[in-house]
Amino acid sequence: MSDTFDVIVIGGGPAGYPAAIRAGQLGLKVACIDGWKNYDGSYAFGGTCLNAGCIPSKALLESSELVHRAEAEFATHGIKVGSVTVDIAAMQKRKAGIVKGMTQGILGLFKAAKVTALTGHGRLLADRRVEYTAVDGTVKTLSATHVVLASGSEPAALPSAPFDGVHIVDSWGALEFAAVPKRLGVIGAGVIGVELGSVWRRLGSEVTILEAMDTFLPMADQALAKEALKNFNKQGLNIRLGAKVSSAEASKSGVTVLYHDAAGEQTLEVDRLVVAIGRRPYTKDLLGDGTGVSLDARGFIVVDEHCHTPVENVWAVGDCVRGPMLAHKGKEEGVMVAERIAGHHAEVNYRAIPSVIYTAPEIAWVGQTEEEVKKSGRAYKVGSFPFLASGRARAMESTAGFCKVIAATDDDELLGVHVIGPMAGELIGEACLALEYSASTEDLQLTMHAHPTLSEALHEAALAADKKAIDFPNR
Ligand code: FAD
Ligand code: NAD
Repeated sequence: MSDTFDVIVIGGGPAGYPAAIRAGQLGLKVACIDGWKNYDGSYAFGGTCLNAGCIPSKALLESSELVHRAEAEFATHGIKVGSVTVDIAAMQKRKAGIVKGMTQGILGLFKAAKVTALTGHGRLLADRRVEYTAVDGTVKTLSATHVVLASGSEPAALPSAPFDGVHIVDSWGALEFAAVPKRLGVIGAGVIGVELGSVWRRLGSEVTILEAMDTFLPMADQALAKEALKNFNKQGLNIRLGAKVSSAEASKSGVTVLYHDAAGEQTLEVDRLVVAIGRRPYTKDLLGDGTGVSLDARGFIVVDEHCHTPVENVWAVGDCVRGPMLAHKGKEEGVMVAERIAGHHAEVNYRAIPSVIYTAPEIAWVGQTEEEVKKSGRAYKVGSFPFLASGRARAMESTAGFCKVIAATDDDELLGVHVIGPMAGELIGEACLALEYSASTEDLQLTMHAHPTLSEALHEAALAADKKAIDFPNR
């Protein structure tokens, strides 16, 4: 192996591996170093997303949703299945198979793009040299014209509820349970809290989620948050807002959590506790002396809007830099950086990053929430359409939720689209394209949508913004 590259990417997650692939496609000589190690000791590219995040969580969300539907909905369709039993080992095996297939797939993609995959640890040194420590301990100094840092993030720890890997676990631990905990506690009612809480609730756990804030899903449009909370409560997710945890102590029999809320001091006894209070950038052993790369007060690598650090030809992308910690945001940044390294013009539109929460009903949005638009002072109009009035949603027996469109009153510019309901994460794609093209609600109104589809709900919500909805009374 040559020791000199056009580009070295440190980190092979969803920000780093697309950067490496795109740079390879552009004819550059690229290496990607990744040190992800699984519980079984195996190494794999793909980072948090493929190994312990997006993909395994969605595999379990899908399996557990099928269990729920078999138990609660099949009879409505006239399907009798008797009592449903769950084989957790088989469910986990399916999940592991998906993860393995996807992570190994990256090596195939690297091969096609002529990217050199290096398993082990990478550390940036001065003058764009990179110290590479292979898994057998061999150390080599590589050099590159450009270095892209994509070291990702790690779960934030809570000193009052320290991880022990058995009773008190992070999100990765909660994806690996070998049996359904009878009582599951979760600290943090954020995205992970509600997604993983839903998985284990559907599989039979009594789930209690303790959230420090008084507001549920504060980053979402509050009309969606309200609808979500109503549905989650109905599903038996016990979400306690304004709950401040003071301690969590593990014993052989489980975990005792002490917290206080508006009602006073409280005790929660659970068998397993998941701490999901956010993630923080991971830069341990990433930067040697004299690199010139700096971290901000929260530990993120400092970059400009093009993900360039103040050091010439050193870039950083994904969870280790500012912005939402989302796989698709990292991917766009990785691709943008590769394009810019190759001398092309490229930008990331940070105003059109979609968010999706893969619960049932699913929650998705792009652009500004109504609260944000209100705060901006711009005059706006809102159109909503409930899935209850959608023929397709009724056929799917998934009528909870609605589509909500927010647009400027003066020039009809689309400002935000918010969906809670079936396949919201798929529906939001159309809204992303609309925002990317600076569409108006009129553009959505004039676009023909197939019948009967869920996407008609978005069409009708756009029509409702001008009181022109056909399939629901205009208010
Ligand atoms: P990471 O995926 O963390 O990858 C960084 C990689 O770099 C890792 O493999 C790490 O081992 C390696 N590395 C770090 N330092 C070094 C070094 N010095 N040398 C070599 N290798 C190094 N996001 C979504 O968009 N959709 C979802 O549905 C979603 N679901 C999630 C579910 C869970 C349970 C979790 C925890 C996260 C989820 N996320 C989701 C967030 C998503 O996983 C992250 O935003 C994404 O993985 C960030 O990508 P990244 O490449 O920046 O970092
Ligand atoms: P989060 O920021 O979404 O939620 C953390 C929650 O914990 C917040 O509601 C916060 O108020 C609460 N909290 C913080 N400290 C607390 C305390 N001491 N006691 C009680 N509650 C406390 O973070 P997360 O759910 O851990 O997820 C981490 C990251 O992973 C997020 O940035 C998210 O974007 C990403 N992620 C994305 C998806 C997705 O896109 N579907 C899924 C999972 C994770």
